Amino acid sequence: MRDLRRVYRGPVCEGAPLSELTSFQLGGRADWLFTPENHEQVGRLLTCLDDEDVPVLVIGEGSNILFRDGGFRGAIIHISRNLDSLEWRGELAVCGAGLPTRTLAGRSLGARRTGLEWAACLPGNLGGALHMNAGAYGGRIAECFAGCRGWTAAGSPLEMGRDELKFGYRRTSLPQGAIITEVSLRLPQAGDESLAAARDRYKWVAEKRRAFRPGRLRTAGSTFKNPEGEHAGRLIDSCGLKGMRVGGVRVSDIHANFMEVVGPEATATDMETLIAAVAGEVKRQCGISLEREVKIYGEK
Ligand SMILES: Cc1cc2nc3c(=O)[nH]c(=O)nc-3n(C[C@H](O)[C@H](O)[C@H](O)COP(=O)(O)OP(=O)(O)OC[C@H]3O[C@@H](n4cnc5c(N)ncnc54)[C@H](O)[C@@H]3O)c2cc1C
Repeated sequence: MRDLRRVYRGPVCEGAPLSELTSFQLGGRADWLFTPENHEQVGRLLTCLDDEDVPVLVIGEGSNILFRDGGFRGAIIHISRNLDSLEWRGELAVCGAGLPTRTLAGRSLGARRTGLEWAACLPGNLGGALHMNAGAYGGRIAECFAGCRGWTAAGSPLEMGRDELKFGYRRTSLPQGAIITEVSLRLPQAGDESLAAARDRYKWVAEKRRAFRPGRLRTAGSTFKNPEGEHAGRLIDSCGLKGMRVGGVRVSDIHANFMEVVGPEATATDMETLIAAVAGEVKRQCGISLEREVKIYGEK
């Protein structure tokens, strides 16, 4: 990466501990961690890394990621609060992809806008929410999506509007390796009555989340997607797997689809083993193959 410092002057860390970048707080080290400060830096960085054939992975808050113990060979690009701008343009909230989704949910109510109440207290930032088509309590990002901007894996400018980006259950049609730096959501102005209803809904969701989240434990939320017409948590519970433990990690007692880190000895291998064991047991007892929602990256 000879030319890197010539084209990229933002923060970079060699041998960065990945455990500091995810809600699981597990995993080895990344060869490089870049934390760009603006949209342009991301593009220049991607062009340079692509020229050098360096594997690249983008992350946001790391609330849906398990990094393996062997770390990540290549470059992690962290879309962080460095890119957390918010500008209102008519009905649109034009946001840096590093803005936490829950921050926008709160600030939009303050600006008399509605449409994001379902995202109260949701972990993760807008780039991650878009990539995952995050959703909860009957809402999802697809419904208010207006457009996004960023870069292709090779560092060419990328813009996608509502008609171009396709959404599925916890996935989108973003090109492989694309990095989103700006997300626009349509959040219309509300009258007094609908604003009051939206505030009530926001409070209800926030309380639900606080009650539901197993303490302040280290988890990545739902581990598996819900199979058609079923709930992954219900299946796991019905197999008697709540509390199942591998090393320093276990299936949550409160929400069976949450895996949590409970012991200081926990490793990413423990977590991957637990996830595989739970899926295997559900398949054996219920005949249903669970599909993972949590992303797993890196070397064993
Ligand atoms: C306690 C808890 C509860 C949760 N509840 C929910 C829930 O109710 N509903 C729900 O949908 N999710 C839930 N999640 C999962 C998670 O919060 C969401 O998926 C979130 O939107 C991920 O955002 P992030 O910034 O943390 O993304 P990360 O975990 O950092 O990344 C997730 C994926 O998105 C990609 N990505 C990240 N940023 C970008 C970017 N800028 N451009 C392109 N790709 C990018 C990454 O490469 C990765 O593949 C929960 C997680 C936790 C810990």
